[in-house]
Amino acid sequence: MSYIEGVDRNQTQLLPASVEEYVGEEAAVRVIEAFVGGLDVRALGFGRAEPAGTGRPAYAPHDLLKLYLYGYLHRIRSSRRLEAETKRNLEVIWLLRALRPDFKTIADFRRDNRECFKGVFRRFNLLLRKLELFGAELVAIDGAKFKAVNSPRRHYTVKQLTELTAQIDARIEEYLGRLDAEDAVHADLPAALTKEQLQAKLATLTERRSRYQDWQTELAATGQTEISLTDPDSRGQKQVGVGYNVQVAVDAKHDLIAEPAVVQDQNDLAQLHPMATAAQTQLAATTLAVVADAGYHEAGQLEKCEQAGLTTYVPARTGTLGQGPGGQPVYPKTDFTYEAAQDRYRCPAGQTLAWRYATKARGKARDYYYTVAACGACPQRAQCTTAAYRKISRLENEAVVERQAARVTAKPELVAERKTIVEHVFGTLRLWGHDEFLCRGLEMVRAEFSLSALSYNLRRALNLLGVPTLLAAMTARA
Ligand code: SF4
Repeated sequence: MSYIEGVDRNQTQLLPASVEEYVGEEAAVRVIEAFVGGLDVRALGFGRAEPAGTGRPAYAPHDLLKLYLYGYLHRIRSSRRLEAETKRNLEVIWLLRALRPDFKTIADFRRDNRECFKGVFRRFNLLLRKLELFGAELVAIDGAKFKAVNSPRRHYTVKQLTELTAQIDARIEEYLGRLDAEDAVHADLPAALTKEQLQAKLATLTERRSRYQDWQTELAATGQTEISLTDPDSRGQKQVGVGYNVQVAVDAKHDLIAEPAVVQDQNDLAQLHPMATAAQTQLAATTLAVVADAGYHEAGQLEKCEQAGLTTYVPARTGTLGQGPGGQPVYPKTDFTYEAAQDRYRCPAGQTLAWRYATKARGKARDYYYTVAACGACPQRAQCTTAAYRKISRLENEAVVERQAARVTAKPELVAERKTIVEHVFGTLRLWGHDEFLCRGLEMVRAEFSLSALSYNLRRALNLLGVPTLLAAMTARA
């Protein structure tokens, strides 16, 4: 028995293989070719959408966009690696018709057209909508922290800079003291450091201190609380050190991304309304159920969602619910019933807490309710408060919070379903290594994430429908 033999490399063939034969009939690359080939790149705002009349011909935006989409779908995101694929990957050679742009051309294309990739993502979603892959009934919103191109060692907060400056001041003080002592006794220093070494160290510390002070001045001028030296737009983020807050609104029918976004915020408190309304627009839904975790629970956001016709299911944060100022257990606020007709609260002991006064702090108006006499004579006071009486605050939009709390209680299965919907997206993107950005700057990482979201939706659509159905849909669209 012999092994299977390959072809002789020196064999001259009568009919050499055409580039078309490199790619199978059901290869995903054919979908990329059909989708990008049918895009109106000029309408999407891509540069060089029309060939220049003079000068050296440029690469068509279609070709570079195809290369990026192919790369993101196959976990190849860097411009140098994409350039390498144009020379060795038969599918890429087929896709680009043997064009071989260099890495700089490839990188410049992503940078120069960074604002256009979200439009491409939306065009693909439009196709998915026509194929009825979106249910447009329930979306889950969630966020994750993706790493920026910025080491934590090149990121400082105001607090860190203040502490570092104080440490340097103490070191400078110490070195100056030792130099003074040396001058006084006119003798060699007792420590291991010579006078020259001490002076060199002082110069280094002074230079570093001045750098820290420049950054502190810059932060004070801009009102920022932190500075990132490599990617100035990145922020300190839990779990990843320095990064961005990536948001997705995912349609529940097939776990497809309806809306992707990247923000700098370190929490999700301001993201519910923008993400939910963007998903509502993209899904062309007049009503939409929205589920998110407790990190999105914010009264103002819930109110705006209600006004936009969205039905939210966001559990309240329970961190300090039912705890007094010292952490001791007390009746949680949910044990107190608001009686709207009388504008008062009914407490667990059956007493009424009357309206007393209103305040407005940090843009939030609150009313306060209490009855000193009732609490003074209450046998349950020890379980209710550590103060002389219990005071209950009520936000001006608390009725919205209560309505939404009642919905969460009525449908706990929706809150549980949230995890299964969004986990698929973030799990896949992490598996593909897309949870670390390669580019710097907010606009650039937004472009990157639009490509990641598009490649995720494309892969999902390929798995759900297969290449022939998607190709047929694109041909019908054309
Ligand atoms: S302490 Fe006051 S608010 Fe609390 S249960 Fe007693 S009467 Fe009600």
